[in-house]
Amino acid sequence: MTRIGDFFRTFLLLELVKGLMLTGRHLFRRKVTVQYPEERTPISPRFKGLHALRRYPNGEERCIACKLCEAICPALAITIDSETRPDGTRRTTRYDIDLTKCIFCGFCEESCPVDAIVETRIQEFHGEQRGDLIYTKPMLLAIGDMFEEQIAQDREADAKYR
Ligand code: SF4
Ligand code: SF4
Repeated sequence: MTRIGDFFRTFLLLELVKGLMLTGRHLFRRKVTVQYPEERTPISPRFKGLHALRRYPNGEERCIACKLCEAICPALAITIDSETRPDGTRRTTRYDIDLTKCIFCGFCEESCPVDAIVETRIQEFHGEQRGDLIYTKPMLLAIGDMFEEQIAQDREADAKYR
């Protein structure tokens, strides 16, 4: 009996008709698919994207090489070397983030006492070789310089919840 039923289902193309009915039902409904990258969905100020290192308005690096971010990083993705400057302040000589290890948890930015390392809204980056995804201090500072306005606005929007 089952085989006869299967035969008629196949012969009458019932599965195809059911599929077309489903398509027909959705044909005139409001579309929810976003045509990325022409269309974009809103991004939260807390979005955890590509990292950046920030400066103060006078151009001085915020990072004081306390290494809290390096210590808290669960993926061991951050590597910092530091030195003491002649004026007694401590700054990094090396600040690398290996994005092939990073899980974008945001712990580094949460731990930073001076809001130096942050995660931006940038989600479109790639590397063609493994080394391309190791972001160095000059690269991170350049991202910070380029997107400081947006970063500052996002910090401000989130400040009362931190
Ligand atoms: S986002 Fe998380 S995993 Fe990535 S560098 Fe920061 S602490 Fe490490
Ligand atoms: S980025 Fe922040 S937490 Fe990391 S070493 Fe610099 S000051 Fe410390």
